[in-house]
Amino acid sequence: MKIIDIIKSEKPTLSFEVFPPKTSDNFESVREATEKIAALRPDFMSVTYGAGGGTSEFTASIAQNIQNKAGVPVLAHLSCVSSTKEEIHRQLDLLKSKGIENILALRGDIPEGMSKEHLDYHYASELTRDIKKYGGFCIGGACYPEVHPESANSMEDMKHLKEKIDAGCEFLTTQMFFDNNLLYNFIYRARKAGIEVPVVAGIMPVTNPKSIKRICAISGTALPQRFIRIVDRYGDSPEAMKQAGIAYATEQIIDLYANGVRAVHVYSMNKPDVAQKILENISAIIK
Ligand code: FAD
Repeated sequence: MKIIDIIKSEKPTLSFEVFPPKTSDNFESVREATEKIAALRPDFMSVTYGAGGGTSEFTASIAQNIQNKAGVPVLAHLSCVSSTKEEIHRQLDLLKSKGIENILALRGDIPEGMSKEHLDYHYASELTRDIKKYGGFCIGGACYPEVHPESANSMEDMKHLKEKIDAGCEFLTTQMFFDNNLLYNFIYRARKAGIEVPVVAGIMPVTNPKSIKRICAISGTALPQRFIRIVDRYGDSPEAMKQAGIAYATEQIIDLYANGVRAVHVYSMNKPDVAQKILENISAIIK
């Protein structure tokens, strides 16, 4: 099933993100965790893709397993900056052979020291164009309510985002954010720039405060004072932090739905208990 048909429906949708194993050693444990999340029957699930291409096979296998075992539609991420056109074509063949119908087309982060000169792909819009030409896939793309960290300013970023849509991107999933007003403002600016595609709001329930400040600094995601106080107060107690992180994410999600956002994507990070709790917290809301 195509993701665009799911998120265009009137019903509020909820989806979960998982990541594939880095090596075959933990394939089984990841498979098990992703199956448990799929058993919660989200509207769809997404499976991330290793920037270096090392886990490309695993992305496809985990995605296929979710779809076949649980019947949950899957969005397979695919990044291009470290790949040649031939490698991307092979990956598309692989995804198609596994019955995957949806791809989140990404540039990926440019590995440190990599020369941009001889790359086959520089931007996600180029990958989007190639997938569109290949045919048969519903294509999504990433967007950044707080502006992509490499962009000179929000106008430049929006201009390039529009290029991605014009290349064939049918919906957008946002980078995580902790202040919903940033999303509302982004959607307003996107619509003004002529971007009409659905925007899926990406929400991260923070259960591990150690990494979040570093990740936010790299990705340019602002941490509101209200959130920092929670991390400072409960960060040393894993159980309390988990409860507070889930509560904060739940509050964000309810506010999003209440304000007309119809699709929410939870960065559930292979944690079935977190996914389940979020789902329980909003069960009547998304009915
Ligand atoms: P692009 O859309 O290409 O944008 C990158 C930058 O280039 C932006 O600043 C943009 O404004 C600029 N730009 C675009 N076109 C042009 C142009 N023609 N000229 C000049 N500048 C231009 N990474 C992974 O490796 N694996 C994943 O699975 C993964 N999943 C993600 C899921 C989501 C929802 C998000 C938000 C990010 C994800 N990422 C993932 C991270 C992503 O790969 C990085 O954020 C990366 O730096 C940018 O990817 P992009 O697809 O947004 O790039």
